[in-house]
Amino acid sequence: MISIRNLSKTYGNAEGGHRALDDVTLDIGRGDIFGILGSSGAGKSTLVRCINLLETPTAGHILIEDREITGQSKTDVNKLRREVGMVFQSFNLFPHLTAKQNVMIGQTKVLGRSKEAAEAEAMKQLNAVGLADRADFKPPQLSGGQQQRVAIARAVAMHPNVLLFDEPTSALDPELVRGVLDVIRDLAENSGMTMIVVTHEMDFAREVADRVVFMEDGVVVEQGVPEKVFDHSENARTAEFLGSIG
Ligand code: ADP
Repeated sequence: MISIRNLSKTYGNAEGGHRALDDVTLDIGRGDIFGILGSSGAGKSTLVRCINLLETPTAGHILIEDREITGQSKTDVNKLRREVGMVFQSFNLFPHLTAKQNVMIGQTKVLGRSKEAAEAEAMKQLNAVGLADRADFKPPQLSGGQQQRVAIARAVAMHPNVLLFDEPTSALDPELVRGVLDVIRDLAENSGMTMIVVTHEMDFAREVADRVVFMEDGVVVEQGVPEKVFDHSENARTAEFLGSIG
């Protein structure tokens, strides 16, 4: 479904810049739950941000369903964003809108759905993340975990083919992490969406992901099914990282 070929991203100019991604090649199957692991600064966020063109790759190609997305015009980027949803570490909700309005706005503005249809979908998705009773609350009145669940409802309401999660629980207090992981786990098991999840939650990645990659210094150093990467790591850096956090 997603084919990443020789992808590189350098921030700043080519001579003095920082190479955040260095010749990354990956294939992600339809419906796969794909975990991206690695220490801070490894390039995980840059990789997922390239997949919806929030970052422009310096070199290489990304194909989604055999269509090249790199080097597209503005209109095509908008179309891409309808197909590829994103959940950010810091939620990125509009603070002045209610939870329900946050879930509705992309549907009406980007998809052109009627207000009634968008509202019905918003309530369905808020219900799915356990927040139907918070529909009229604004983000400052919600906990971080609740805000992130609203952000997930907002992304799912657009019915993307691919949903990207960029460290969705990193900004949360520890006691709020589980509720958000449960929502993501439920989507992974029941939605059929292709999901790419950057995470430091190793137990979660091991249980939920079909495949994981381990990144270091902009390079994929290891990939495979979780059992292989976690229990039979072939790479010293992966083993060291897993050891240090496990
Ligand atoms: P990770 O998500 O694995 O923590 P990132 O993709 O955020 O890693 O960052 C990879 C590297 O690129 C880091 O060294 C980071 O400092 C650098 N980087 C990320 N974003 C930018 C940016 N906008 N400008 C310059 N350097 C950046």
